[in-house]
Amino acid sequence: MDDYAVVLNAGSSSLKFCVYQRPANEAWRLEARGQIEGIGTSPRFSSKNGAGERLADQSLDKAAVRDGRGALDALAGWLRTSYGGARVLGVGHRVVHGGPRFTGPTIITPGVLDELRALEPLAPLHQPHNLAAIDAVAERLPDVPQVACFDTSFHRGQPAVAEVVPLPRDICAKGVQRYGFHGLSYEYIASVLPDVAPDIAHGRVIVAHLGSGASLCAMRDRKSIDSTLGFTALDGLCMGTRPGALDPGVVLYLFQNLGLTASDVETILYKKSGLLGISGTSNDMRDLLASSEPLARLAVDYFVYRATKEIGALAAVLGGIDALVFTAGIGENSPEIRSRLCAASAWLGIDMDPEANREGRPRISRSGSRVSAWVIPTNEELIIARHTGALLGLVEGRQPARFQERTEVTKVRN
Ligand code: ADP
Repeated sequence: MDDYAVVLNAGSSSLKFCVYQRPANEAWRLEARGQIEGIGTSPRFSSKNGAGERLADQSLDKAAVRDGRGALDALAGWLRTSYGGARVLGVGHRVVHGGPRFTGPTIITPGVLDELRALEPLAPLHQPHNLAAIDAVAERLPDVPQVACFDTSFHRGQPAVAEVVPLPRDICAKGVQRYGFHGLSYEYIASVLPDVAPDIAHGRVIVAHLGSGASLCAMRDRKSIDSTLGFTALDGLCMGTRPGALDPGVVLYLFQNLGLTASDVETILYKKSGLLGISGTSNDMRDLLASSEPLARLAVDYFVYRATKEIGALAAVLGGIDALVFTAGIGENSPEIRSRLCAASAWLGIDMDPEANREGRPRISRSGSRVSAWVIPTNEELIIARHTGALLGLVEGRQPARFQERTEVTKVRN
């Protein structure tokens, strides 16, 4: 009988999943990738096989899929129909916050779950949904081991100065430090750099993860040296609905002068700011780029301005850079944003090749460019799958399992 591993990335309105299969004595391979979007509003299920061909695309019953549990039930139904009789060897989860203690992926136990729950206030938009999916799987498949992979782990090991929050020690002792996020994405990019861009892989690289959440990571020799997200996923770059770096005096003003409650402020900071706040119309970069409205233009201008500023700051931290890598929704798909960021960072030595950029080739800088620029599609799920396989291999006393998947840019190393 074939063994399967399932990877889950549970968010507030979507449940993304991957199914990896391990035919007897072979490496793991991607069987299906998909998502349930619009949970609670107009749920829709879609999935593709490992070759990118459509397996399913259908709307779901809104009453049945009104929350994460309903979405998981719908996914379980599809898995039963598609892979009936197969053994689920393990479930790997994206968990956004691992706090100071979880410096790597971990097998989930009730004790681990309690520790992760205590971190919910540090990632209120993500962590509760990540953990609800773990609970829901545990109820339905109590004997199947689950693994948590953290967005913060890749950044542990940064120099002490990069982790400091300069507040009194007794406050910092309660866990107030800079953690950094998008670590699974950065870990994937770091894992493929030697294949995709061997000349710069061991050098000084800024990776720009530009999606609805956005951050930069400064890497030296594929290790995180600093990043723009800090204690929570609110710092740094302007994001879809989050402001990025903000004078803390603004937050005081909201409380003291505008009389807002903590819950109001949380909603403003996580859901109403950033591109949506500035434009007043959309958090989606595609809408804003297509719009001629002055506020939509201002939102895009600010996104580029802020990212340019932060690229400069991380370049200073690294003492200059050898490469800039774009990834995630905007980074992978928007030649315009890449072009504007490369032009604004030309002073660093980036000479972009417009044709390569338009085509989204892996290398988008000219051959003589002192600093090279790249587009590398991220694959957080593959990183989760690798860790899940490795940990389950240890649990069962076997060699760590191996995963493989087709990618556009390179053969992924197992
Ligand atoms: P997340 O995983 O954080 O939800 P993604 O990495 O999928 O986000 O990025 C989603 C964002 O990518 C969308 O909100 C949209 O703004 C942006 N995006 C996707 N395609 C394009 C495109 N062709 N041009 C510009 N932006 C795009």
